Amino acid sequence: MKKLILFFLVLFVIYLIGVYTIPSYIEAQRNPVKTQAPYQVSPEAQQLYDRLDFISDLHCDALLWGRNLTKRGNQGHVDFPRMREANVALEMFTIVSKSPAGQNMQSNSADAFDNITPLTIAKGESPANWFSLINRTLSQSEALFDFVENEGEKAIFIRSKADLEKLIEARKTDKSVIGAMLGIEGGHALEGTLENLDKVYEAGVRMIGPTHFFDNEFGGSAHGQSGEGLTEFGKKVITRMNELGIFIDLAHSSPAIVDDILNQTTKPVMVSHTGVRAVLDSQRNLSDAQIQKIAANGGIIGIAFFDMAVGEPELPNIIASIKHVRDLVGVEYVALGSDYDGSVAVPFDITGLPLIVEGLMKAGFTEEEIRAVMGENMKRFLLKNLS
Ligand SMILES: [Zn+2]
Repeated sequence: MKKLILFFLVLFVIYLIGVYTIPSYIEAQRNPVKTQAPYQVSPEAQQLYDRLDFISDLHCDALLWGRNLTKRGNQGHVDFPRMREANVALEMFTIVSKSPAGQNMQSNSADAFDNITPLTIAKGESPANWFSLINRTLSQSEALFDFVENEGEKAIFIRSKADLEKLIEARKTDKSVIGAMLGIEGGHALEGTLENLDKVYEAGVRMIGPTHFFDNEFGGSAHGQSGEGLTEFGKKVITRMNELGIFIDLAHSSPAIVDDILNQTTKPVMVSHTGVRAVLDSQRNLSDAQIQKIAANGGIIGIAFFDMAVGEPELPNIIASIKHVRDLVGVEYVALGSDYDGSVAVPFDITGLPLIVEGLMKAGFTEEEIRAVMGENMKRFLLKNLS
């Protein structure tokens, strides 16, 4: 009996050590930066950067790794202190609930082993989350809510236009006040029910990408196997998302879904983190025809920062992708959509955003255009379309 108790005690201690070390180890492996902070830019670029009063980013997966986002991390790409250091006003934190083993840009099976299951267990999450996508999603939602709550007046969870107006007002006198929005990457998180859509709306989710790396109840992924458009369920959810005021994120959707949604939606869409085919011809990226349709819909396109979206070396290609959208449809449709902490290697963490400003200046963007790209477009889009 004593031996048995000792055995379980040892097992428990090993588990605790695992919870403390494994997620952090995995994160360090999955989310490197190519150049470590601090970052140097020209005095002109820094001065322009410092004049920006609303910098925002459309996509960050920092919630996945179990890091306390109210503390400055020594790995990964984003947390609240680093947002403040970079004078960032608003970040869209997105929830990843399932990720296929051997994840790739070309073709992934929905039945592949799910990499998030061992991560969820290693994070020490409740057994209720171990095999439930909706519970994992609600748990990450609560985590963001708690981080924001712990900041008191210094952080605002943005669910409505009124919340955003509060953030803008607060930042007039205190730039350390930051905003956080919540999104979902992959509609499989809803486990095929409309009730779960209402639940995530209640939890603060205001953006959902129908598919992630594999086909699901909504239809085909850009990296799935079917290439299908929206299913009947997918169409119903899109209608309900329009009614509730949850933005549709077209990132990772099959071209057929992109078309179906643009035909159906009554609201402007987002593409939270993408590249463009004119710069990198990849199946995760937008064609010129898609960019034109999204602009016609009044949508907004966030350009991602990693090589699989823009090509290497990243910075010149990030700038080229932003420039391409501007030249094709106008500067008002393009924003930042880093994909920070999204299992990607990026050239710099969020404190390196002045490098984007420097790149845009070199590419001949005016100060007004740089303001638009760095956050004003996102702010205007949200003020117009959030209820
Ligand atoms: Zn993604």
